[in-house]
Amino acid sequence: MREDTRQWLEADWAHAWHPFTDQAQWEGVEGPVIVKGEGVFLEDSEGRRYFDGNSSIWTNVHGHSHPKLVEAIRKQAGELCHSSYLGLSNARASELSSLLCQAAGQGLERVFFSDNGSTAVEAALRLALQWRHMRGEGERKEFVAFENGYHGDTLGAASLGGVGRFFESIAGLGPQVHFAKSVGDLAGLDASRIAGVVIEPLIQGVNEMRPWPAGMLQELRAWCDEHGVHLILDEVMTGFGRTGELFAYQGEGIVPDFLCLAKGLTGGTLPMAATLTTAEIYEAFKGAGRTFYYGHSYTANPLGCAVALASLELCLAKDFLPNVRRKGKLMQEVLDELQERDLVKEGRRCGMVAGIELATDRSGVVGKAVCAKLREKGMLTRPILDTIVWMPPLASTEEEIREMGAMLKAVL
Ligand code: PMP
Repeated sequence: MREDTRQWLEADWAHAWHPFTDQAQWEGVEGPVIVKGEGVFLEDSEGRRYFDGNSSIWTNVHGHSHPKLVEAIRKQAGELCHSSYLGLSNARASELSSLLCQAAGQGLERVFFSDNGSTAVEAALRLALQWRHMRGEGERKEFVAFENGYHGDTLGAASLGGVGRFFESIAGLGPQVHFAKSVGDLAGLDASRIAGVVIEPLIQGVNEMRPWPAGMLQELRAWCDEHGVHLILDEVMTGFGRTGELFAYQGEGIVPDFLCLAKGLTGGTLPMAATLTTAEIYEAFKGAGRTFYYGHSYTANPLGCAVALASLELCLAKDFLPNVRRKGKLMQEVLDELQERDLVKEGRRCGMVAGIELATDRSGVVGKAVCAKLREKGMLTRPILDTIVWMPPLASTEEEIREMGAMLKAVL
């Protein structure tokens, strides 16, 4: 091991604290120190190259160090890295809000920027609650979310989380949330107390990559319309082409009241998020006593906006979505072959998101072991319990997908 690698590891073990990580198991273990990214590959400080098999926790779209994205950041850094969005505009934020609304279409006309997926959802909750409050509907302050869903870690977003092991320490401290398994479960609810329904459309990510039944979003939209409840779509994972649509709802013929975006917004380069909403909701926030008192120091950061613009332009290219759909089908062929393995219980996929559930006790032990083997072979990913996430950058070529597929087959 190189001397600098050892120093980086020792500094990490001595001082750093990693998210979603049992530090007792982490300290002292010689994992890769990532120093470079190129296309679908990440490289560690020892010169080993790995496929980025989960798009760096579901963020990467066009591959690492894409020249257009690097250039957008470089150019913007030479002009302006940051200025406050309080009482000031910035050029890239104006351009991005306009292009995002154009891309979302169908009545989503306003963009509220923030920093990550959790704050994109948190902002939607706060907007929905304030909107009710201003209309004199303060009793509508509860939300509906779906079992085993995941929407982030800030207190509001975390309250919507249906994964017990993540959120038990804050249970009951945030907004009141009713958890449903399906749209059918909403029938028994007192809708007059509900502000909004929050869902990851088409597929739940943290819930081991589980797709919803076809037509479910339309049923949900109809229920929301019937009861005057806002539909909040968390497209933090599904946005920017991941499912084969630019935004997942666009294939379902419905329009949400709030759309939460992050991860792929900057193509996987910088932390940035956006919450889109309709003119009707926006208009209610105008005037004395109606200000939305919410925002962060780095809201609408020009570097983030510049690279998000460059990334979105690439997503709007004619071939982008057809390519994702084609490569998603190729991933399905791999999943179909994997289905033959004794260790595989089920392969699930939506666009270029796949989860391979192992036929195990769901303790996560085998999932971790499989990912360790994949790493030895040259592919990085993280399991969710015993489901192996396979979610390569959308820019992966067919050949790269086949190579990753071969690694999965060899290991499983
Ligand atoms: N919503 C969904 C659907 C997610 O998958 C995630 C992150 N995995 C989040 C919200 C939270 O995003 P972030 O980690 O950027 O806060």
